Amino acid sequence: MPIVDLYGHESLRARLRASINRGTLPASLLIHGPRGVGKQRLALWLGQLLLCESPGPHGPCAACRSCRYSRELGHPDLHWYFPRPRPKDADPSLDEVKDDFIDAIHERLDSNGIYPPPSGLEGIFIRTVHLVVQQAGMTPTIGSRKVFVIGDAERMIAQEGSEQAANAFLKLLEEPLPDTTVVLTTSEPAALLPTIRSRVIGLRANPLPESDVRAFLEDPLATKALQAYQLPKSVEERVRLANGAPGALLSSGTIAEAHALANEMLSASHTGDAERFRLGLAFGSSKARGFFSDVLDALTALLHDRARDRATEGDDDGARRAAMAVRAVEKAKFRASGNVNPQLIGSALLREFAELRP
Ligand SMILES: [Zn+2]
Repeated sequence: MPIVDLYGHESLRARLRASINRGTLPASLLIHGPRGVGKQRLALWLGQLLLCESPGPHGPCAACRSCRYSRELGHPDLHWYFPRPRPKDADPSLDEVKDDFIDAIHERLDSNGIYPPPSGLEGIFIRTVHLVVQQAGMTPTIGSRKVFVIGDAERMIAQEGSEQAANAFLKLLEEPLPDTTVVLTTSEPAALLPTIRSRVIGLRANPLPESDVRAFLEDPLATKALQAYQLPKSVEERVRLANGAPGALLSSGTIAEAHALANEMLSASHTGDAERFRLGLAFGSSKARGFFSDVLDALTALLHDRARDRATEGDDDGARRAAMAVRAVEKAKFRASGNVNPQLIGSALLREFAELRP
């Protein structure tokens, strides 16, 4: 069973086709844009196009062996990586990482290529980066080139003691082998490691027009996969909720909740202790750690926006305080990735916000 087709992004597809035809497609790309608009699907489409045996004027032929493999996520030269839960073994072997991705890809195939955004606890750990570097160094299996799609690339985690693999990855982006294309995607380009951002050519994927969202939602493969989610029955209501990003439908509940709480935390920095204490309790043990990480992600996004707005308004002090609050959130994320109680981290963060008033 293939994954659901790519909908929309017509102008971006035309640009990509044109640069392939001219032979000017950059070897390392970054597709950025709002969460849920289909960036990874677009990257997979590009991979299918690059590997297609007889590409047509509008894209891959969709009929050759290579296209069939690509659409069934089984092409040995189309590699897809994305955030995964932290491995149980602190230093897994490359085979273990590979097996984990085989399982993960099967899951994505079972749901026709429709999947929720990663939880805040999932990341692209250094062993995965190591595996990418190793596979990039090998000759293609059936085609004449290899394509790597790395989704949610801002979740790539720099780890101490693994500079070698990290540097090898940077080198891969900077001086890729002539038969290798690397496509990163992110909905948070500001959170991408600067060493990576400076080495890739950025392309923006915009929200889809309503007609494309509707066509996607009416695709039988999508309809089937979406049955697993609690969504409004009417297509019109779904189109409205998606707001140009059908993938956002898969997370609207928890992400909206996380954003609401993040907003409350920021306003709490302007109120009294009791309010802060009450919010601190919201991260009690009954809440999943994943939700806490989503709240921290929402705080980063809100504070980045705030810092930018203040800077635009000429409020340098306000921009500086918002930027310091971003750093406090980053520190909290680091503590949350260890074994510290979310409630303790949340309360400490609220105290910092009270001082910074971001
Ligand atoms: Zn083809």
